[in-house]
Amino acid sequence: MSTATSSTYSLFNTIVERSQHLPYVFHRQLCGQSNLNCHGRHRPMSICSVDAAQSFDYEHKLSSSHSSSSKTTASSRNLEKLFSSSDASFDLKLKIAIVGFGNFGQFLARTFIQQGHSVIAYSRTDHTSVATSLNVKFFSDPHDLCEEHPDVVILCTSILSTEAVIKSFPLHRLRRNTLFVDVLSVKEFPRNLFIQTLPREFDVLCTHPMFGPESGKDGWGGLPFVYDKVRIGDVESRINRCNRFLEIFEKEGCKMVEMSCMEHDKHAASSQFMTHTLGRVLSRLNLPITPIGTKGYETLLSLVENTRKDSFDLYYGLFMYNKNSTDLLVNFEEAFDEVKKELFEKLHDVVRKQLFESIPEDNKIGS
Ligand code: NAP
Repeated sequence: MSTATSSTYSLFNTIVERSQHLPYVFHRQLCGQSNLNCHGRHRPMSICSVDAAQSFDYEHKLSSSHSSSSKTTASSRNLEKLFSSSDASFDLKLKIAIVGFGNFGQFLARTFIQQGHSVIAYSRTDHTSVATSLNVKFFSDPHDLCEEHPDVVILCTSILSTEAVIKSFPLHRLRRNTLFVDVLSVKEFPRNLFIQTLPREFDVLCTHPMFGPESGKDGWGGLPFVYDKVRIGDVESRINRCNRFLEIFEKEGCKMVEMSCMEHDKHAASSQFMTHTLGRVLSRLNLPITPIGTKGYETLLSLVENTRKDSFDLYYGLFMYNKNSTDLLVNFEEAFDEVKKELFEKLHDVVRKQLFESIPEDNKIGS
C-alpha cells in the first residue's frame, strides 16, 4: 500500500471510530467500508476500492490535511467534508459531470442546475463563457474534471466520437464508485462499449431522452425518457444514486420508460431515424410558408424545423450505429417507388386511353 493510501486508510479508521457518536445510519455506512466492525473490533482487512493515489488527487489532499493539522480538528473537518460532498449517499443533490458540452449537453445542464444539482463540464471546444452563464464549472482538461470526483458522469458527445472519447478519457482519476450515464440516441452501441471499457466497479445507466432543445424547449412534461439499468451495484447507496438521477426526469414530468437497449434500437429506427430522414428529405425542397397552409402542411414544416437544427453527425450516428436503420432506409425507398409507380401507372392508363380511344374509328390503322 502506498504512503498516501495507508494514511488515507488510517484516517478512515479514525473516522469510523469517531462516527460511533454520530447517528446510527452514518456509523453503519462507514463501518461497511472500513476494517472495523460496528463494535470497533478489527476484522481481516480487505480493500474493496482504492481510488487513484496520484500526489495531487483528492485522497492525497485529504490525508495531507489530516497529518498537517491537529488531529481532532482535522478529523472533524474531514468528516464534515466527507459527509457534505464525497459520498453521494449523504446528500440528495448530485455532482454531475457532463462530458460533451455541445447543444444537448448544455440543454440538459439548464435543468440539472434549476433542480439544484451542481454541474461541471468538459468538452473538446472551450465552452467556458456559456458554461459560466449557466452556472456550470467548465474544465478544458478531462483530468481536472475527474479530479472533482463527480457522483455521476454523463456522456453527451456525438455518437460518432463516443468510442474515441471514452478510450482517451482518464477513467482512473474518477472514484471507483461512479455512476456512468449516456444519452446517446442509439443504445446497443454505448451499452456494449461501456461493458467492454469501463472499470467493473462503475455503475452503468444507458438512457435516451426522446426529446431535444427544440421539442423540449417548453418543458419536458409527457415526453418519453427511455432508460436501461445496465449495471447498478447491489448496494443501497448505489441504487439510491441511480434513482436520484432518474428522479430529475421524473420531476420534470417525463414519461419514464424502462426498456432494454436492444428493444430501444428496434423502436428508434422506425420512429426516430424515420422522422430525421423525412425531415432531411423535406428540407431539401425548401418548402415555403403559404397563406393557405393546412394543418398537415404546418406539421411538415415543424418537422423540418425540428430536425434542421440537429447536426449531420447526429443523423449519421442514427444510421451507422443502429443496425435496424439500413433495412428501414431500404424499405422507405421501396415504399416511395411503389407509391410513385401506382401514380404513374394510373396516369399511363389515362393517357393511353386518351391516345387510343380519341382516334375516330375510320382513322384507325387497318380500317
Ligand atoms: P452531436 O453533434 O451529436 O454532439 C455534439 C457533441 O459531441 C459536442 O459536445 C462535441 O464537442 C462532441 N464531439 C463531436 N465530435 C467530437 C470529437 N471528435 N471528439 C470529442 N468530442 C466531439 O450533437 P448534440 O445534439 O449535442 O448531441 C449530443 C448527444 O446527445 C448525441 O449522442 C445525441 O445522440 C444525444 N441526443 C441528442 C438529442 C438532440 O435532440 N440533440 C436528443 C437526445 C439525445 P464540442 O463541444 O467540442 O463541439
